[in-house]
Amino acid sequence: MKRIGIIGGMSYESTLHYYERINRQVNERAGGPTSADLVLRSVNFEDYHKLMEKGDWATIGRLLRAAARNLFLENQCNYVAIATNTMHKVAEYIAEPYTWMQHTGARAIRVEIPLVHIGDCIAKKCKEVGAKRVLLLGTKFTMTEDFMAKRLAQHGIEVMSVDNYPEEIEEIDRVIFDELCHGVVTAESKEFMMNFVYQFPADSDIRPDAIILGCTELEMILEQDDVDIPLINSTQAHIDKIVELCLED
Ligand code: GLU
Repeated sequence: MKRIGIIGGMSYESTLHYYERINRQVNERAGGPTSADLVLRSVNFEDYHKLMEKGDWATIGRLLRAAARNLFLENQCNYVAIATNTMHKVAEYIAEPYTWMQHTGARAIRVEIPLVHIGDCIAKKCKEVGAKRVLLLGTKFTMTEDFMAKRLAQHGIEVMSVDNYPEEIEEIDRVIFDELCHGVVTAESKEFMMNFVYQFPADSDIRPDAIILGCTELEMILEQDDVDIPLINSTQAHIDKIVELCLED
């Protein structure tokens, strides 16, 4: 068994799913009284949300790097996962090797954290269903910036442009932060999401091969039965990989 460190709380609604499903899936596979060896660092999302709104991603990166380093060095986690898509905007802060000066004893330590990047997990599921061109849903950061699209492109997956949908992107972002992050799912928002998903392929030259739920709360509002093309759930894709790593010898 390997120990996994999870940085969660962004939001706690989806972190609950990580904790519950990782343990359940590990137990189903290993049997008996087995549960996952994991350390959960659940942060106060308000602090991060304020920084996101200010655009202070450097501070977010430094905070997450410190949290990940703590899981890796102090809690001796073999792998670290951030239980959100959006925060992968600062994935390099965590995953890139660096030298850290430990305060006590002033020792220089080489830190190289094995980050379980959610984009790689999404790409694996895309390959399984043969999806090469995808519609990526998520927060406005995930949909309009290129950090997730670039990671998927490394796996040969193209994210379709959503440049013509600024109002819809704002509304999806609002639904995520004002509703889903608080565990609220409304019929109006579900209808809006479905309309967007159906309108998008009809309005573009090429239909996507799959829709990516590129936000860990979106599975609360869209399911495979709602759409007629493959739906890739980033939360479940991430969890499946984490479970695999937990069970390593
Ligand atoms: N959990 C969300 C995601 O997967 C959004 C909240 C956040 O900004 O972390 O992107």
